[in-house]
Amino acid sequence: MLSHFFEVDAIPWHFVEQAGPVLQVHPRVTCANGWSGNGFLEFGFPFFPNRQHRFCDNFEVVAHETGHLIMKSMVGTMPDDEKSLQHRAHEEAAADLIALVTTAALRLRHRPRAHPDRRLPLTATIS
Ligand SMILES: [Zn+2]
Repeated sequence: MLSHFFEVDAIPWHFVEQAGPVLQVHPRVTCANGWSGNGFLEFGFPFFPNRQHRFCDNFEVVAHETGHLIMKSMVGTMPDDEKSLQHRAHEEAAADLIALVTTAALRLRHRPRAHPDRRLPLTATIS
């Protein structure tokens, strides 16, 4: 989906030189968080040490972490020790926006079609 916005067929990962051409996905790490790094995505458990629920099953979490890597690859990044708190906050916001847009697009794509009589006319206004 994001290849449409960036007009590319594949994401040219920014980490290839440092970590190789493979994006590793670790779906069940022993922690209460999820994160991404150069060449990997890792997902823990929201109520760790309880392992009943998994972050890897939550599309928004996966999209957020993948969004970090896409933004770094397509927009660019800087060394971690040079990032200000404000820069990191913008990175989190961008990853949240990617998760929001991809989740909305996925839900629109898979929603049931409305009955023709219940569709809004094109001239409808929303107040
Ligand atoms: Zn994040």
